[in-house]
Order: sequence, then C-alpha cells, then structure tokens
Amino acid sequence: MHTQTIAELAAGLRAGDFSSEELTRTLLDRIGRLDPQLNAFITVTAEPALEQARAADRRRAAGESGALTGVPIAHKDIFCTLGVRTSCGSRILDNFIAPYDATVVEKCQAAGLVMLGKTNMDEFAMGSSTETSYYGPTRNPWDLNAVPGGSSGGSAAAVAARLVPGATGTDTGGSIRQPASLCGVTGLKPTYGRVSRWGMIAYASSLDQGGAFGRTAEDVALLLQVMAGFDPRDSTSADQPVPDYSATLNDPLAGLKIGLPREYFGEGLDAQVAEVIEESLAEYRRLGAELVEISLPNAGLAIPSYYVIAPAECSSNLARFDGVRYGYRCENPQDLLDLYTRSRGEGFGAEVKRRIMIGTYALSAGYYDAYYLKAQQIRRLIGQDFRAALAQVDVIMGPTSPTVAFDLGEKVDDPVTMYLSDIYTIAVNLAGLPGMSIPVGFVDGRPVGLQSIGNYFAEAKLLNVAQRYQQVTDWHRRLPPVG
Ligand code: GLN
Repeated sequence: MHTQTIAELAAGLRAGDFSSEELTRTLLDRIGRLDPQLNAFITVTAEPALEQARAADRRRAAGESGALTGVPIAHKDIFCTLGVRTSCGSRILDNFIAPYDATVVEKCQAAGLVMLGKTNMDEFAMGSSTETSYYGPTRNPWDLNAVPGGSSGGSAAAVAARLVPGATGTDTGGSIRQPASLCGVTGLKPTYGRVSRWGMIAYASSLDQGGAFGRTAEDVALLLQVMAGFDPRDSTSADQPVPDYSATLNDPLAGLKIGLPREYFGEGLDAQVAEVIEESLAEYRRLGAELVEISLPNAGLAIPSYYVIAPAECSSNLARFDGVRYGYRCENPQDLLDLYTRSRGEGFGAEVKRRIMIGTYALSAGYYDAYYLKAQQIRRLIGQDFRAALAQVDVIMGPTSPTVAFDLGEKVDDPVTMYLSDIYTIAVNLAGLPGMSIPVGFVDGRPVGLQSIGNYFAEAKLLNVAQRYQQVTDWHRRLPPVG
C-alpha cells in the first residue's frame, strides 16, 4: 500500500480494497520502523490518527465520504494543530500545545484526511537543510548522509520515503520547492494568498505561503483542492474562486511557450544538474512546447533583497515569543528583563538569532532607508521582471536548486553558502507567484528538480505542465533505497 499515490489510495478506499484504519496502521508501522533513521517527524500522532481513520471508515460506510476521505497525510510542524504540540522546530515552542487548528489543518480534516503527525523543519522555517531544527536534522531517503533540503525537509523526506503519500509545507523563499527537488518529490508553492496563513506560524508574512508535497502532480492537485480558498481570518487571503485543479491536468501542451531565463543557467549552476535539466526540457519540446530564452535582469538581486526583507519581518513576528504568554520560560528569572532575555536567549537557536539581529538592524531608524526601503524597491523590480516575462511566455522553467542534495554538515557553518541554495526560488516569493518542482533525474544517485513558475493564480497550468511530463517519464515513480 505504501507505494501507492493519493489518487490510487483514494480509489482503493472507494473500492473497499482496504480500510482507512488498515492503511493508517500500515503507514504508522512504517514510520515506527524507518523514522528513527530519517527523523522526518517531530511528533507522530498514532492514537488520534487511528481514531480519525475509524471515523473516516464510518463516514464511508454511511455513504458520506468525499474524494479523499481516509487518506493519511502529515503536516509540517508550523501549522497549529489543536491539542497537539506545534513546535515550529524550535525549543521555544517545544512545550506549546496549540489551542486551535490552522485553517489548512481544519480544511484537511473536513475533507476526511487522516493526520499521522507533524513533520520536522528548520527552526521557524529558517534554513535550507532542516539542520537548524531543535529536534536534530532530517536525513535524505536517497542518501542518509545528505540533507533533505529545507525548511520543509521533514515533509519532503516523509513523502520520498513513502511514510505518507502527501504532506503540507510552507514556502517563504523555497522551502517547498527546494526540499521537493532534493528529495525527488513533487511540490507546489501556490500564489501568495491562495492558501490561508491563519494558524500557520509566521516567519515573513509577506512571503510565507502554504502548499503541498506529493509524489505526482495529480496528488498535489488533489491536496491543493482541499487547502486553497478564501479565508476571512487571513487579511491577505485572495478572494478568488478555486478552479477544479484536476479538470485541466491532462490538457495537451502543444503550443505551450516556455521561457528559460538566461540568469538561471549561468555561473553557479552545477554542470551535471544543468545536463539533467536540459534533458527534461527536451522532453517538453517533444511534448509540443516551444522553448524561448528570456531574461530576468534583476535575478541576481533576489538573495540580498530577501535577506533584508525576510529577517526584518521575522524580527517583528518573533517578538511575540517572550517567555510570558506561551512557550519556553527560563528558570528563576530575576526580573522582567531577565525573563525576556534569558527565555529568548535559551529558546531560540543560532540561525534564528542571526536573523532577528539582522532584521532589527535593518529596521532601525538610521538604516531603514538604506536597507529595508532599498530591498522593497528591488522587490518591485523583480516582480516587474517576472510580469514582463510572463506576458510573453506561459511558464518559466529552470533548475529548482543549483546543486543536488549536499552532505549533512557541509554548509551549516557557512550561512551565505546555505542562502545560495535558494538562488532560483527566492525571487518567486518576492513576486508572489506560484512555483513548482518536479523530479527529472539524478546526479550520483541524488535527485534533480525542475522548477516551473507560472502567472498569478495559474496553479492549474503548472499542475497540467507537470502532469504531462510525468505521463511520459517515471522519475517520480523511482523508489529511494530505504525500507
Ligand atoms: N532558505 C530560505 C530561508 O532560510 C527559505 C526558507 C523558507 O522558504 N521558509 O529563509
């Protein structure tokens, strides 16, 4: 059962081939056996999962089931889950039991999806390798010495290792697409505002967006269908109708115009990754697409602009973790200031502190114009580049990441090198566009991902473009050497 896709499992449940309880037990068993090695989960919710599964089976027996009733998934530990620890990968929230469900969690539950647990992540989603997690790093199922990418590395690894058929993630600068790429799974970051951020712990609010991992584009379409939609509780939620993402999945690609940004194929891109990407693009040509070179002239400014804006927003968002209202509190505080400083000092890890300091500095009175304002101006230019390009082409394609998965420990002590692993994904968040990564090959046994970037709310197009490729290739069906 564990190798089946969400679509296949849903069909099996519908046909009565197995119950949700059986399926849930099988996957919990696998998690119990394999996760000690992988560390993809921070919390496994076995008992509540079995209860949810039995409830799903009862709904089905009563003729009240929906398309995905009884299918198991996992949530990134950044989504608040009622009555379940929601740690965000941080010591400061290690003891935090969320008093409510995030909208995404609520929607998944309403659809009858069964939550198996909460997945590992970089602390507060700050990182590209899941190594900044307070709970230790997740390992890449393709090679246990390699990182799974980040920050949603636990979700990507869990799907790659077939511990769950699908999982949620969030993407502020690449945290769905980059781990999808490094773990050889399919991941979609929707348009900013497409999926509610309510109950999703904030990192950089103007960039954060929830999305999904699956093995196939078809599965990601099914999950997005559940997650997407207007939410009055999120002031930046888009009040736009949600299309039927499965309806256009199989549309032909003849005449599709694919733009290849010159800046995404230059210096810094690993030569072997480039070769695999070229082959995948040739496949698109055979599917009837037309490939044209385009330019995103300000692409090189994305990382510096992001690493002012994201820390600025995080320094403000993380001010709420003060040791008073919830989360970790230091022992024997001497006075209020001591309570604040020691609770935060002991509760946050090094990368989070680095970002809070950068953000606070960039927002301070004397530097605001020089850094934050400048970064926002660059952000606008980056958005304009994409809009101009997408007026000429239907989608933009290129590598998701400049390299395949790197070794554990390889970049932890070098933040700037770590930041560069998001060089092709970050600009997409600055522009608020949807982006997707699909597996298209391997270099030395480690997966390579192809990124597609679409126009605002063109998720259906991205899913269609991914699905057609997956119909003629089998990279997404390959199994990593675990269990
Ligand atoms: N790696 C980037 C960062 O550390 C992006 C992370 C994310 O998308 N959450 O900010």
